[in-house]
Amino acid sequence: MKMGAIESINSNPNTRGKSWVELIRQLHKHYGMEYKGNNSQSRIEKGFEIFLKNQVHLFSDNPYHARVEGDNGKEYKVVISACTCTCPDKEYNLAPEERCKHIRAAELARDEQLGLLPKAALDQIEYFRRKEVTA
Ligand SMILES: [Zn+2]
Repeated sequence: MKMGAIESINSNPNTRGKSWVELIRQLHKHYGMEYKGNNSQSRIEKGFEIFLKNQVHLFSDNPYHARVEGDNGKEYKVVISACTCTCPDKEYNLAPEERCKHIRAAELARDEQLGLLPKAALDQIEYFRRKEVTA
């Protein structure tokens, strides 16, 4: 029986909840992106770290708007539906449709709130949240 990577981790008591790389791979798949390995940390992975550290604050009246705390102590405003963020990375490095780590973090928080994250990833996320892993 062939199983997906996350599924096999979750069903194996020895490895359950322990694979950061598999989780990041799963999140890339969820957002339709290719995971290129952990030698070049992607904006999805950086965004996931921000999300884990509870630095995303979704607007209570609109889950497509968020305030996101950067690691430099600055705060950025994200509008997920418009793919905008007030950070320099988005302003100078990215095309209009490309997402910076703050937009990725906000998308993760919104998808979690709306129950859209892959079920297979949720256990893993809880594990890393408890560990307060910042990678
Ligand atoms: Zn940003």
